[in-house]
Amino acid sequence: MKRELRLGIMGGTFDPIHYGHLVTAEAVRDEFKLDKVIFVPAGNPPHKVKRKVTDKKHRYLMTILATITNPFFEVSSIEIEREGYTYTIDTIKEFKKLYGDETLFYFITGADAVLEILTWKNADELLRLCYFVAATRPGIEGNKIDQELDKIRNLYGNVIYKVTVPSLAISSTDIRERVAKGRPIKYLLPEPVERYIQKYGLYKEDDSI
Ligand code: ATP
Ligand code: MG
Repeated sequence: MKRELRLGIMGGTFDPIHYGHLVTAEAVRDEFKLDKVIFVPAGNPPHKVKRKVTDKKHRYLMTILATITNPFFEVSSIEIEREGYTYTIDTIKEFKKLYGDETLFYFITGADAVLEILTWKNADELLRLCYFVAATRPGIEGNKIDQELDKIRNLYGNVIYKVTVPSLAISSTDIRERVAKGRPIKYLLPEPVERYIQKYGLYKEDDSI
């Protein structure tokens, strides 16, 4: 019998994309036997208003460069093509239309993002439309996550999984800071992305942090 399609959705600003994102997506793909993981670079993320986010074209191309060697990874331009702020709920709805109602969606986030889910637009509807997978991330206390996940489960009675991924204390913020200070970023992200950053002189300005 043909089983339903299982898609992972990995949303992020990817400014820049790094091995933390890639390891997480691959671990979740393996754990839930996903058919593919679609990376969705955010257009104008409403929660990142404090600093200037790098041009979406750059973030999209870096995401393509980073994922190119994995046959199970794809990149979608669905959010960067949308005008105005982009919200996860609209993205998931568009994917549902595209792939049909039988498709199962696994929305992948780091544990830090899961702690914020309830502040997202139409959180309850979103939680009903897809499974959530919270990947543990260094620096986020395990207990706090479990408490928060229980709270969400009790409130909405929906499915949220927790997955432990090989610990990687890598963040885009740290990478941007390193570039601005002229420190190395080698081995924190794929080499083509490192070269892309150099080629276009990204993150040199202090205001990019
Ligand atoms: P920034 O420092 O600018 O916030 P970031 O490294 O957190 O960047 P985002 O693009 O904000 O990257 O994150 C996209 C998703 O990836 C989020 O769900 C985030 O929790 C998750 N994520 C980021 N870094 C890691 C990591 N090292 N391990 C696991 N998940 C991660
Ligand atoms: Mg982040």
